[in-house]
Amino acid sequence: MASRKLVITMDGPAGAGKSTVAKRLAEELGYLYLDTGAMYRAVALAAQRAGVSPEKEEDLCLLAEKAAIELVPGKDGVRVFLNGEDVSEAIRTPEIDRLSSLVAKVAGVRRILVDKQRALGARGGVVAEGRDMGSVVFPEADVKFFLTASPEVRARRRFEELKKRGLDPDFPKVLAEIIERDRQDQERPIAPLVVPPGAIIIDTSNLEVEEVLRLVLAKVKEKLA
Ligand code: C5P
Repeated sequence: MASRKLVITMDGPAGAGKSTVAKRLAEELGYLYLDTGAMYRAVALAAQRAGVSPEKEEDLCLLAEKAAIELVPGKDGVRVFLNGEDVSEAIRTPEIDRLSSLVAKVAGVRRILVDKQRALGARGGVVAEGRDMGSVVFPEADVKFFLTASPEVRARRRFEELKKRGLDPDFPKVLAEIIERDRQDQERPIAPLVVPPGAIIIDTSNLEVEEVLRLVLAKVKEKLA
C-alpha cells in the first residue's frame, strides 16, 4: 500500500494499547516497529544485573553506551536482545516496569538511546512507539498519535496481562504502580510524557484493538493518499 515511507509516532501512558496497535500497524504497512520502551527496559535490566542503582548516572550512561540492544522481528512479534541474549521476557517484570521509569529520567541515558532511535528511524518506514516520539525524537513525523485511557482501564489490562503470564497480581497494587509510573513519566524535566503538537488523540478506554487499528489506519491512508 505504501509508496512513501512515513515516520509514524505513537505516544501515551503505560497500558493505553500502544504496543499492540503500533505492532499491528507496522505489520500492515510492512514498516519497522520501533519499541523504544524495550530499549529503556533493556538498560534497566543491564543496570539491575550489574547492581547499578538508578541514582548512579555516570555508571548508567556507561552501561547504556556499551549495551548492544537489538529489536529483531520474528513470527511471535519483536524479540529484544541485550548483548546477544534474548531478554524479551526478562524485561517485562514488575520490577523492570519500575526501574525503567527511573532509568528513563537520566539525561545521558536518554541522549544515548535517542541517538540509537533516530538512527533506526532515519530512512522512514517506521512506527515509533514510546513517550517522546512525536515531541522529541521525531518532531517532524508524518503522522503522530497519542493513545490514552483511564488509569483503571490501563491497570485492568496490565492485570490481565500479568495473569496470562502465570503471575498472581494484586489489582490495587497494579493500579498504584500505573499511577506512579504516569507521575514519573509526566513530571520528569527531560522529555516528559506530553501530547505532542499535532498529535491525533485516541482514548482507547471503550474501544477494541481492532477499532483503534481501523482509526489509525484510516489516518495513515489519508496521509498517503
Ligand atoms: O512503554 P514501556 O512501558 O515499555 O516503557 C518502559 C518505561 O520506559 C516507561 O515507563 C518510560 O518511563 C520509559 N520510556 C521513556 N521514553 C520512551 C519509551 C519509554 O521514557 N520513549
